[in-house]
Amino acid sequence: MQWETVIGLEVHVQLATRSKIFSGASTAFGAEPNTQACAVDLGLPGVLPVLNEQAVAMAVQFGLAVHADIAEVSIFDRKNYFYPDLPKGYQTSQMYHPIVGPGDVEITLEDGSTKRIRIHHAHLEEDAGKSLHEDFHGMTGIDLNRAGTPLLEIVSEPDMRNAKEAAAYLKAIHSIVTYLGISDGNMAEGSMRCDVNVSVRPKGQEAFGTRAEIKNVNSFRFVERAIAFEVERQIELIEDGGKVVQETRLFDPDRDETRSMRTKEEANDYRYFPCPDLLPVVLDQAYLDHLRGQLPELPADKRERFQNELGLSAYDANVISASRDMAEFFEAVHNECGDAKQAANWVQGELSGALNRENLSIANSPISARQLGELISRVLDDTINGKAAKEVFQALWNGQGDSADAVIDAKGLKQVTDTGAIEAMIDQVIADSPAQVAQYRDSEPEKRGKMIGYFVGQVMKASRGTANPQQVNGLLKEKLDALL
Ligand code: ADP
Ligand code: MG
Repeated sequence: MQWETVIGLEVHVQLATRSKIFSGASTAFGAEPNTQACAVDLGLPGVLPVLNEQAVAMAVQFGLAVHADIAEVSIFDRKNYFYPDLPKGYQTSQMYHPIVGPGDVEITLEDGSTKRIRIHHAHLEEDAGKSLHEDFHGMTGIDLNRAGTPLLEIVSEPDMRNAKEAAAYLKAIHSIVTYLGISDGNMAEGSMRCDVNVSVRPKGQEAFGTRAEIKNVNSFRFVERAIAFEVERQIELIEDGGKVVQETRLFDPDRDETRSMRTKEEANDYRYFPCPDLLPVVLDQAYLDHLRGQLPELPADKRERFQNELGLSAYDANVISASRDMAEFFEAVHNECGDAKQAANWVQGELSGALNRENLSIANSPISARQLGELISRVLDDTINGKAAKEVFQALWNGQGDSADAVIDAKGLKQVTDTGAIEAMIDQVIADSPAQVAQYRDSEPEKRGKMIGYFVGQVMKASRGTANPQQVNGLLKEKLDALL
């Protein structure tokens, strides 16, 4: 039997407001426990919430970026349940009239192909506090700093068909929210986390199978691994004559498996009702137009422009446009050197490699876009060869010189293109290598191409890497063949 996987994601994005969604308390990460929760966040008697206008603007900007309908009127509801990290007994959310209606996101897969994933809606809500289990023997500590932090919950349609598509969708959402600057997108700190809904059905069947929901997955890699495990579990279960039950599961990254948390029968009855303390949010066209005017160029538009106007491959355009910082760095390098393909190669290759090794973000790159662009220009105008370019890169990275030109001068890396000088070095190498010359002469003509590598290496060495490799190759061939 052939099976098809069906996946829908609920992504929680922490909005980058300075204060909470209904109070003036700070949202800064990492403060001492319980120093950033005020009476409103705790829902103490007699306090009233005031909606943070910035949170509304951020939700609307997201909606506009995913081509969604923005609700003229949206309404906050109370979702009632008790949990130690929610002392007020309800979470303020939007159940029936969310601020962002249906929209869609384009995802790009590894082979460069694209697919449209529909968004069902996105709504505003507040986060709860945190339970801390590790530091207190036999007890649980409660930190309410996170209580009242604004979240945007983005609910997709069940449009994804494998783990790669789900990860690509999450990456697309991550790109959009960080481009917009409405979230720092820091998954390790919990600024973005998602619930993964997974079901399987026989290939060709239209009706969806019963889904399981895997809660709070907080990395792209974990999303893929949780889905892989869950798909296998469900298929095995059904093939053994069992039935998938609708339930909430937890992913355990250490054991690489999902475990049941609660089934539908144990599910809460939240008794939603409109929050009597908050007015409906009413937005007019002028406000939407104002926010639309502030949207930056978005990842999908950048990707298209990089491909169509700058001639990058679909793959390069996708990788570079995924992060706004990387896209802007690339554009600055391109402006300096004028060659998009080379700029893309250097940014994705040498630069990304060095940043990864030292665990630095591109915003903190020791080499500026301008320095890198100038370095590339010196390769393009034949001042230095590719090997010297890597040396210049390393020197600039280490702060040994302000510009590529300064490093090239200081280290004497200027490429030797003077034919006479190269010929002299070749003559010397040939004179010093009688055995290799004899071998070259006696071998089959089709094998000589390979053997020339030895001589090229010797000449490059003699020039301390500065000879122009194309010239060395051409002249060597002429000189060796003249000896035949
Ligand atoms: P709930 O509000 O109870 O969590 P929803 O119907 O709103 O349920 O769906 C939540 C998420 O689950 C959505 O992202 C949706 O795309 C996804 N989903 C719904 N049905 C399925 C299914 N059969 N298989 C996989 N995902 C599903
Ligand atoms: Mg759900």
